[in-house]
Amino acid sequence: METQKHATDHSEQQQSSWQMANELLHNSDDITSLVSYELRAPLTSIRAALGLLLTGMMGTLSPKGHRMLEIALSNTDRLMRVVETLEYDSELFSNANGASHTNGTSHTNGTALPSNEGIERVNTVGGEDLAQPSRKTPIKHKRIYYDRLTGLPNRTLFMSWLRQAIARTQQTPDQVFAVLIVALDRFQVVSDSLGRMAGEQLLVAIAQQLSTYVESFGVLTRLQENEFAILIHQVETRDEIFAIATEIQGRLSHPFTLYQQEIFLTASLGIASSQQGYESPEDILHDAATALHRAQGRGGNCYEMFDAQVRSEAISRFQLETDLRMALERQEFQLHYQPVLSLSNDQVVGFEALLRWFHPKEGLVSPAKFIPIAEEAGLIHPIGLWVLRQACEQLCRWQQEFPLELPLTMNVNLSAQQLSQPRLIEQVSAILRETAIAPNTLKLEITETSIMSSPEAAITVLEQLQACGIQLCVDDFGTGYSSLSYLHRFPLDTLKIDRSFVSRIDSEGEQLEIVQAIVKLAWNLGMNVVVEGVETLKQYAQLKALRCDYAQGYFFSKPVNAEAAALFLKQKLAMAPSHRSH
Ligand code: C2E
Ligand code: CA
Ligand code: CA
Repeated sequence: METQKHATDHSEQQQSSWQMANELLHNSDDITSLVSYELRAPLTSIRAALGLLLTGMMGTLSPKGHRMLEIALSNTDRLMRVVETLEYDSELFSNANGASHTNGTSHTNGTALPSNEGIERVNTVGGEDLAQPSRKTPIKHKRIYYDRLTGLPNRTLFMSWLRQAIARTQQTPDQVFAVLIVALDRFQVVSDSLGRMAGEQLLVAIAQQLSTYVESFGVLTRLQENEFAILIHQVETRDEIFAIATEIQGRLSHPFTLYQQEIFLTASLGIASSQQGYESPEDILHDAATALHRAQGRGGNCYEMFDAQVRSEAISRFQLETDLRMALERQEFQLHYQPVLSLSNDQVVGFEALLRWFHPKEGLVSPAKFIPIAEEAGLIHPIGLWVLRQACEQLCRWQQEFPLELPLTMNVNLSAQQLSQPRLIEQVSAILRETAIAPNTLKLEITETSIMSSPEAAITVLEQLQACGIQLCVDDFGTGYSSLSYLHRFPLDTLKIDRSFVSRIDSEGEQLEIVQAIVKLAWNLGMNVVVEGVETLKQYAQLKALRCDYAQGYFFSKPVNAEAAALFLKQKLAMAPSHRSH
């Protein structure tokens, strides 16, 4: 942990300021005695627990390499109070064997210390209670209350503070507190590309950065992998909370330096305030998490506050999730097909299968709305397999009905969650066998974002799919964070340029140049290119002039049901019958 502390410029600065403070402390005349505590948890936890009063305590290293906390017992009343707090809680802790520790409130700033767990008094010099026998703090308790990596108070400890905050507002409702969940966007990508150790060092640096800011008005915990939560003890207005959220985003957006590399981060925040009236810490944390989801759903790097509107949206989302569970069984799904055309001869080369849900009450629900819900509810696996089977069966029928020189292909969308399904390869192979289509006529589309959300895992699965002979296509290219040269590490056959580029090429010459550059690079890397969202004749003509390989879009056909798609294909073939193989 100590080496991790040195990992960033920020922590080096902190370390040197501790050293300076230490020298001052030891050379000061008015010190009457010195109490040393051996810290079994990192200083950040103690700082978080004691809040403001830490000014005046020094963190240092003992000769044995243990972290120490030294408190100068001068005439300063504040420092005496800190020591009292530590002693008081220590007493509670050792008496109660952990049972009564949650009643322990600090004498200081209203932040309750469940125990002084993590702190062991080792010596007192110059004072009356010299050579107090040191009390052993059981390691077990350290594990219970502090995060092993960052040393921050953990969820259990945080929940006990939340419980107390709720109890307080139940007595004095005017005293409003708030909970913020801070989730680092794309942390998995950073961690995967830098390595686990570096990812952990980054989390430690972030924990230090946040706790320094938060300690004057609240407490901080690490909730899980890349999520932190903050309890703001008291707030007057919503704007005050938003100002804190903005400040946190600003602080995290400064680059962190790790191994001489600058790392840029963004964060999404979910906020819930006690004004909504909560009875349990789980409830307020749940609502903050709902708000966080909403912020993440908006693309991240923003914050959301839980309110009546979020609540009603959450309820209707839950209703939709409930209905979605029944949709497969009730046969409410259907596939629509959008033709993919070759721009060299305007012929249909295949189709993209797009899922449609006919909800009994709501009517047609957009996949953009229900696919994310299916992913979150863990329903995307059965739904995705249904789509794959239907699409392959349809392709088999069409290949027989329309035997072309180059057999028709079928593009099927695969969600990120399907990629991490352990049985995916086995299930896809089984569907290919049962429907008897040639594997290279199936193209699986995976979005750039889902590849990049877990690149190492993706590469393994994609290689296995490629080994089965299936073609792979990166979807929505240009909306994620990858570069073409990085994507080249993945076994991809096709690159699909996102609609957003195409929709602007009519008006902006620059966009056309970007599309042209992407096309050329993709070719150099051995991929062919599909452009999606072609809506106008002008766009079509421009893309054709760029010699893009394939295109899709309303200009040719909207996604339509199987009958209409077959009709479209027939009409196209009638215009150029030479494509039929005999
Ligand atoms: P996508 O894979 O990028 O699919 C293309 C979307 O663009 C489709 O929306 C299609 O209807 C629409 N589109 C096609 N041409 C044009 C055009 O010229 N102009 C405009 N404005 N839009 C066009 P759709 O069908 O609503 O699907 C939305 C998204 O839902 C898809 O985006 C895909 O990410 C997801 N999705 C659809 N079906 C499935 C599925 O079976 N499995 C998974 N995992 N996701 C699916
Ligand atoms: Ca797609
Ligand atoms: Ca797309």
